[in-house]
Amino acid sequence: MAEPEPEAVAGLASKSLVNQAPGEVEKKYDVLAVNLVCTWKFGDGFTDTCAICKASLYEASLDCQAHNIEDKKHDGWHLCTGMCDHAFHYDCIKKFTQRGRNNCPVCNAPWEEKSVVAISSMNDA
Ligand SMILES: [Zn+2]
Ligand SMILES: [Zn+2]
Repeated sequence: MAEPEPEAVAGLASKSLVNQAPGEVEKKYDVLAVNLVCTWKFGDGFTDTCAICKASLYEASLDCQAHNIEDKKHDGWHLCTGMCDHAFHYDCIKKFTQRGRNNCPVCNAPWEEKSVVAISSMNDA
C-alpha cells in the first residue's frame, strides 16, 4: 500500500536582506579579488600566497615558473615585504609599481619596501 505523498509545495521563502545597514557606506577602493587562502600566518598580515600572481610565496613567482627560471638570485625567487607587512614576489611587486601604481595591491597603502628575503633561505631554515 503506497503512502500518499504530500504535495510538494514550492516554498520559496525569499530571504530578506537584513544586513543592509542604513547610512553611508564609504567605498575607498574596489575589491578586484579576494584571496581566501590563509592556512597559517607568518606574521601580522602575512599570507602565503602572492596576491599579484597567486602563486605560493614558498615557491618562485608564476613568471619564474612559466619561464623555468631556476636561478635563485632572480627577483622571482625573492619575497619583498612592505611597510604594511604584505609580502609579494620581488619581481611581481616591482612590475606592479613600475606600472605606475606605488601602492600595496592588497591594502592600498603607499608601497615602501621593508625587507627582501630569498625564498630559498626560508625553505632551508
Ligand atoms: Zn607573485
Ligand atoms: Zn599592504
